[in-house]
Amino acid sequence: MAKFKKAAEPVKVRLKKNDLVEVTTGKEQGKTGKVLKVFREKNQVLIEKVNMIKRHTRPSPTTGKGGIVEKEAPMFVCKVKLICPKCATGTRFRMTQTGEGKKVRVCLKCKELIDG
Ligand SMILES: [Zn+2]
Repeated sequence: MAKFKKAAEPVKVRLKKNDLVEVTTGKEQGKTGKVLKVFREKNQVLIEKVNMIKRHTRPSPTTGKGGIVEKEAPMFVCKVKLICPKCATGTRFRMTQTGEGKKVRVCLKCKELIDG
């Protein structure tokens, strides 16, 4: 029996913490930053200094401080591109396996390994 391909397969998050990414769409387009956190189950990433939102906080009883703090909000992975260290630009990549069976990412443009 042939296996049918599932129509709605969840997007695989292939980004990792500390990856350098570029935003490709939306109001943050063109911004680059480091991935701080990956939310695999939500297909979202948190990028340093990108998609900042203002949060109102109550004064804390310990520090006595409150007010508005700016913090990063998660973005969907489909809105960001991994930056190839060699091309120095947002790029598309594919997964490949090394001889040792290690999964690595390869830039489709320059064919260089993105993972060291
Ligand atoms: Zn490249």
